Amino acid sequence: MHPLLIATNNSHKTEEIAAILGSTFQVKDLSSGSFPKVAETGTTFLENATLKAVEISKLTEGWVLSDDSGLEVDALHGEPGVYSSRYAGSDGDDAANNAKLMRELAKLPSDTARTARFRCVIVIAKNGERLAHFSGSVEGSIVLASDGDHGFGYDPHFQPEGFDKTFAQLPTEVKNSLSHRARAMAQASPWLMEQVEA
Ligand code: IMP
Repeated sequence: MHPLLIATNNSHKTEEIAAILGSTFQVKDLSSGSFPKVAETGTTFLENATLKAVEISKLTEGWVLSDDSGLEVDALHGEPGVYSSRYAGSDGDDAANNAKLMRELAKLPSDTARTARFRCVIVIAKNGERLAHFSGSVEGSIVLASDGDHGFGYDPHFQPEGFDKTFAQLPTEVKNSLSHRARAMAQASPWLMEQVEA
C-alpha cells in the first residue's frame, strides 16, 4: 500500500476519500501527526486546496492530497461557497452553519427555487509543488426540513438531483458514488495510480 496524506482534520472527508480510493493507498490525515493549521486565505476552492496541499507537502515526504469543497446556493448568489465551513462564524460548526443557511433562505419569498450544488477541488502536491488538480460537482436542491444522520456538513439539507432523499439519508455508498468529492476523486484516483505504478 502506498502512503497518502490527506491535508485535512475533517475525519468525514478522510473516510469518504479512503472509501473512494479503495485499498491501494494507506490513507492518513493531519490527525496522525502534529501539523500546523494552514490559513485558508484564498477566494476560490482551487486557491484554498492548493494552499493546504502545498504547505503540508513541505513538511512531509510523499504525496499530499487536499480537498476544498463547499455548497453554492443559487438564490444566495453562490453562498456559502468557499466560506461553507465557517458560514456562521466558527470553523466546522455544522449545526450553526445549517441554522444560518435556514435563516438566510427564510428571508426569501417562499416560492424561491432552492437549487444548489456541492463543489469539490482536489489538489495533489509533493515537496511543496502542486502537481495536479481535479474538480467535481453535484447538482441538487436544499430542503428546509433537515433529515438523515449520515455524512456531515450540509448533508441533512441537500437532496441530489434525481433523489427524494438527502445525502444524510442516503447510504454512504450512494453518496460516495455521485458526490462532488466522488466525481473529483474519480479523476484523481487514476492519476495517482499512474504515478505509483510509474
Ligand atoms: P473546507 O474544509 O474548507 O473545504 O470546507 C468544507 C465545508 O463545506 C464543510 O465544512 C461543509 O460545511 C461543506 N461540505 C463540503 N463537502 C460536503 C459534503 O460532502 N457534505 C456536506 N457538506 C460539505
